[in-house]
Amino acid sequence: MKVNIIGSGSIGSYAMGASCLIDEHILIDVPNGVVKHIKNLNYDILKIDTILITHLHGDHFFDLPFLMLGKYFNHDKTLVKVICPYGTIRKLKTLFRVGFPYNFRKVMNSTNIEFIEHKGRNNIHLGDYLIESRNVKHGKIKPSFGYIIHKDGKKVGISGDSSFCTAIEKIVEQSDIAILDMSLKGEGNKSHMGYLNIKDICNKHPDKTIIATHMQNSARQVAIDNPIKNLIIPNDNEEIIL
Ligand SMILES: [Zn+2]
Repeated sequence: MKVNIIGSGSIGSYAMGASCLIDEHILIDVPNGVVKHIKNLNYDILKIDTILITHLHGDHFFDLPFLMLGKYFNHDKTLVKVICPYGTIRKLKTLFRVGFPYNFRKVMNSTNIEFIEHKGRNNIHLGDYLIESRNVKHGKIKPSFGYIIHKDGKKVGISGDSSFCTAIEKIVEQSDIAILDMSLKGEGNKSHMGYLNIKDICNKHPDKTIIATHMQNSARQVAIDNPIKNLIIPNDNEEIIL
């Protein structure tokens, strides 16, 4: 699998919001501004046929209306499956009502976007991929998902936004590489992990490769100044092959 860390920052950091692309066709999270960012990085937006949303904070799904409207204006009817938390469609309707003269239904009828809302742990088979979702702990935002993507015996884990919890341990244990929320420079809190959580995870699993994401600038700097052997601090669009 080819993993591109499209964005590795959190709100307020200089990096794009946390998002990654698997094999150029599975996009995980759609932070504000990411559609144009992906085009500027010279990926073919038409190749993206699957989108996974981890949770319904704006920095993880607010560019979905722009992705949809882009398809609408370009008469693009390629199928895109959006696997997302329960309640996504209701929130998207609100975004359209507030921000756009084109109503949600009109755009949906002119494009080929299929929303698959779900609430909890399940397995979704899509072509050569198996996508496992896990309920993680992200403050009061429920549901919040991490994912494990399987293909050809390889597994990529994604935490979404999460504090350190049992589901995060399972995602790391069951994946070859894990892309983990490292928002904070020290200890984690009820919503996010910090550098010290990630350091513990890396030390406990020396055979795993951990990739930090959703970083505040201060967290990135601490990790650069105090490197850990099996931790990658990616720049936006860094590529990892496994
Ligand atoms: Zn969040």
